[in-house]
Amino acid sequence: MIEIDGAQGEGGGQVLRTALSLAACRGVPVYIHNIRQGRRNPGLMRQHLACVRAIAAVCGAEVRGASIGSKAVMLIPGKIKAGDYRFVVGSAGSSTLVFQTVLPALLMADKPSRLTLTGGTHNPLAPSFDFIQHTFLPVLRQIGCGFDARLERYGFYPVGAGQWTVTIEPPASFRKLTLETRGQLLDVEAHCISAGIPGHVILREKQQLLRRLNWADDAVSVSQVESLGPGNSVMIKVRYPQITEVLESHGAMGISAERVANHTVDLLHRYQGFAAPVGHYLADQLLLPLCLGAGGSFVTGPLSGHCKTNIDVIRRMLDIDITVEEIEPKRQWRVAI
Ligand code: AMP
Repeated sequence: MIEIDGAQGEGGGQVLRTALSLAACRGVPVYIHNIRQGRRNPGLMRQHLACVRAIAAVCGAEVRGASIGSKAVMLIPGKIKAGDYRFVVGSAGSSTLVFQTVLPALLMADKPSRLTLTGGTHNPLAPSFDFIQHTFLPVLRQIGCGFDARLERYGFYPVGAGQWTVTIEPPASFRKLTLETRGQLLDVEAHCISAGIPGHVILREKQQLLRRLNWADDAVSVSQVESLGPGNSVMIKVRYPQITEVLESHGAMGISAERVANHTVDLLHRYQGFAAPVGHYLADQLLLPLCLGAGGSFVTGPLSGHCKTNIDVIRRMLDIDITVEEIEPKRQWRVAI
């Protein structure tokens, strides 16, 4: 039994999710306590409970302590089973984080799986469906994994109820990743989307993006999307030879359209400023697949708290060498596994 202190480092949901994923992959029981102690509302929220139930389903685990608000959970995993799974978050909580929790285990399975996920698809503080589709999955394809992801309905905070499907094909054998240079910018685009809010919001977002970025008008699209609740997101997509980065901000009551657009542009400038291929969020999300696969190396900007904490949790659960080296002072770090 491995014991994981959920209060360590970042002290958020990722400590829990990483511990669950690795316990399932290794087939070793895990006890996680002080769950999300670093957050204002500690313990399991609906989306974390959905992660616990999802991982239990894919590895036939026995679970103790899984209820809303619980600060400690035990997972005793069984055998990983590929299959056709449906996971429902039951709130606007992020469905993409549920996907990322079960993904490592399903990549270890002997057959492909198909998931249907219901919940938030475009949430603050989580990867959006677009980030998964255009940033995360293409890197995993480079190490041999196969995916087909389709968005069926958008889910925004607070109503959620978005839906998407993904097929996961485990690699015959994992390839090593080398993602160390960003290369030349090949293509740029931005999308302003909304559901159930006045149409001028996405138009103002587009104007603001064009004011700040020296882009052609047709590089920025606006669209009303289908969702059961209101919502708004601005997404910027920049494509380089080996990586596409999606930067995003989400509208909320009391935040002007211009501010949402500005924030997304600021994220783009930050990403481009470090000239590293792997962005602030992707770095922590790549660690698990690389550690369970054939390893490799990537270059990123300053390591986030999430990334540092994830490295610590992984080191505690796997016998693996992860090195972090500053290769350009205050700008670029190389992570090697
Ligand atoms: P936690 O806060 O511990 O639940 O973890 C949140 C996860 O969501 C981390 O893996 C972050 O990298 C990821 N994340 C948060 N915001 C974004 C974003 N804007 N784009 C992509 N991933 C994100």
